[in-house]
Amino acid sequence: MNEPRQFLVERLRQFGITVFAEMSALADRTGAINLGQGFPDSDGPQEVLEAAVAAIRAGHNQYPPGRGILPLRRAVADHQKRFYDIEVDPEAEVLITAGASEAIAAAMLALVEPGDEVIMFEPYFDHYATSVALAGGHRRVVALREPDLSFDVAELEAAVGPRTRLILVNTPHNPSGKVFSADELGQIARVAVEHDLLVVTDEVYEHLIYDGGSHVPLVTLPGMAERTLTISSAGKSFGFTGWKIGWASGPEAMVSALLTAKQSLTYVNGGPFQHALVTALGLGDDYFRGLADDLQAKRDLLSEGLRSAGFGVFPTAGTYFITADIRPLGSGDGVEFCMSLPERCGVVAVPSVVFYDNEEAGRHLIRFAFCKRPEVLAEAAERLAGMAGSQP
Ligand code: PMP
Repeated sequence: MNEPRQFLVERLRQFGITVFAEMSALADRTGAINLGQGFPDSDGPQEVLEAAVAAIRAGHNQYPPGRGILPLRRAVADHQKRFYDIEVDPEAEVLITAGASEAIAAAMLALVEPGDEVIMFEPYFDHYATSVALAGGHRRVVALREPDLSFDVAELEAAVGPRTRLILVNTPHNPSGKVFSADELGQIARVAVEHDLLVVTDEVYEHLIYDGGSHVPLVTLPGMAERTLTISSAGKSFGFTGWKIGWASGPEAMVSALLTAKQSLTYVNGGPFQHALVTALGLGDDYFRGLADDLQAKRDLLSEGLRSAGFGVFPTAGTYFITADIRPLGSGDGVEFCMSLPERCGVVAVPSVVFYDNEEAGRHLIRFAFCKRPEVLAEAAERLAGMAGSQP
């Protein structure tokens, strides 16, 4: 008999197949509307698509350089300067990766010794836990608590121990849609400086902030430049999640460490798409404003639909995601609820408990993605409203 984890090394045994693959397969099988996984259902900018086609036709089809093509590293540096006034040297302080996912995994492999601890905020994007485990590290979670998903600074302080190597921060935050406040970022920076910790910040939703809010990269705070690795990706900013082009920037020695790990993961990735991303990062301000405005309208559409269907709905300040409380609908178990949702009304969502170590804190929550066409969201809202009153 083949036991699914028969061959799996011990440090990965606590993990199964990621919930997103499972829920997307459920959506395919049942023909339900997939609001589980965060990918858009329409293409990103036409000129960027054309640039990718042109790059393939122009013969950019062999291995790019290990750090990524220089024009893209320059475009990343220009982007950091343009939006945040951050100076980055494209020759030494930028690495192109296979999505933010590879940057995160490579960061853990390159920066965390076996037995080191990594602090992250719970709920957390599940890839963080597997990446830390791959490196042989241990995670320590600090809770983002209802109702406003703020954290207790004393809990952050208490999470720091002799083996703490780094703090992993994600703002805007998946799955909650929270944007960390200036005060919270200041507290994280203070703790990192006081305890001489590294910081890895996942900023893939940097351009998806709503209601006039703006993104503050942690690296811009006092004392952070020399200890922070900043990660982002083309997936969310341009709607090309399948291209898997990400990037990391930070101190030269940190980026070199990352390169050493990346060399043994993918070596290099996405040659022609790297060329297309030069065009993408150079798009005008109107593109980035339009992206946020468009998604804000979608957030409003789905939030309203969920409220009308009877869910408790958390505010979403950024990202692709809305967290909903299912208790007002008479259910307390998000896994059960999400498994039955496709049959009950033809919609797929993700149980938020997969983002928690402390399962009690996330049991009653589920996550919906709103990065879909308005007519799809409207149809999903109608189906969910029709379900209200039916038995779970
Ligand atoms: N970080 C966060 C917070 C994410 O939500 C995602 C994608 N869901 C990623 C990283 C992965 O990004 P990429 O597709 O560029 O690897």
